[in-house]
Amino acid sequence: MERRQFIQIPGPTNIPDRILRSLSQPIINHRGPEFEALVKDCIKGLKEVYRTNNDILIFPSSGSGVLESAIVNLFSPGETIVAVSQGLFSERMAAIAENYGLNVIRISKEWGQAVKLEDIREVLEKDINREIKGVCLPQNETTSALTNDIEGVSKVIKELGHPAALIVDAVSSLACLPFETDSWNIDVVVSASQKGFMLPPGMGMVAVSNKAWGLIENSKMPRWYWDYKAVKEKMKENQLPYTPATTLLFGLKESLKMISEEGIENVWARHEIMGTAVRNAIKAMGLTLFAEEGYESNTVTAILMPENVKYKDLAELLRLKYGVVIGGGLSKLQGKIFRIGHLGSISNMDTYAVMGAVEMSLYELGYDVELGTAAKAVAETLLK
Ligand SMILES: *Cc1c(COP(=O)(O)O)cnc(C)c1O
Repeated sequence: MERRQFIQIPGPTNIPDRILRSLSQPIINHRGPEFEALVKDCIKGLKEVYRTNNDILIFPSSGSGVLESAIVNLFSPGETIVAVSQGLFSERMAAIAENYGLNVIRISKEWGQAVKLEDIREVLEKDINREIKGVCLPQNETTSALTNDIEGVSKVIKELGHPAALIVDAVSSLACLPFETDSWNIDVVVSASQKGFMLPPGMGMVAVSNKAWGLIENSKMPRWYWDYKAVKEKMKENQLPYTPATTLLFGLKESLKMISEEGIENVWARHEIMGTAVRNAIKAMGLTLFAEEGYESNTVTAILMPENVKYKDLAELLRLKYGVVIGGGLSKLQGKIFRIGHLGSISNMDTYAVMGAVEMSLYELGYDVELGTAAKAVAETLLK
């Protein structure tokens, strides 16, 4: 029997049928009026999701490309930035900056630990000469399934009157977790198509504040493809300087329509419920969450592998028997944790089914759990 797959990795995420259908339209001229109307619609919708009046630029790119774009546009070689390093994605940002000749002050945390506001305060207070030009961190570190307090970090920078720009990787959290680009004063917000936006991979977006445009004016970093000024100039005509991911824009228009119909606040609330249901089921089964308590993400959950169960066996059984695809630990967490993505297109019944499948698979692999435990925990969360 053919059945749907549950792609419960933390991106790419499941694509709703409405979006899949929108992707099957014939291609259009990216220098024509239909395309211009499409871009105009998408930017309007993106501003509602980002909660911003800042400029939003789009790139045919993976999320990492857009992270790189922020570094090459805002800074010059030899300048200093602060980067939180607490997992693969946050460390990637630090590495990109170093590769471009920036001096990177790392705030290094154990993987699984969130950055604390004191950590940020301490580094910025020491910077008496105001040499730090930017602070970079992810809202959601997908590797370890935790969420940093972005609003808090922004407040610390403001309280200290520090001029550093705040650059946030919101790839695995935008359109899922509460995010307020304008009222939190975030200068650069990076996202990508394949997570909260429920689209295939291949497109990145970035919101750029006026303060960031000031840095861009002074930046001496060489660039062409990523040049925000050139992209902004062309986007005034609702076009891009080069061939865009037109088909993904068809999908984005539909995705933004779906988000708008549900209401962004309801989207946030749904993710909170799904995250809570998954964690409650995990805890009820006697398993241990990996992320620091109080900072667990509502888009992805990381769980320590129980003793005597191998990640490969669990992932294979879930995939072959139940059509549920989960993620493993990355880099130094390989084999130590498993990760369940619950972002984008995910409903109550998806969560119920996925956690049931996780329970049955663990049971079959010899883990000591009473059948029905996960389902009960999910049901109790949903009925609350
Ligand atoms: C997925 C992800 C990215 C981008 O990954 P790409 O594979 O380059 O699209 C960046 N940051 C975070 C936090 C992510 O979860």
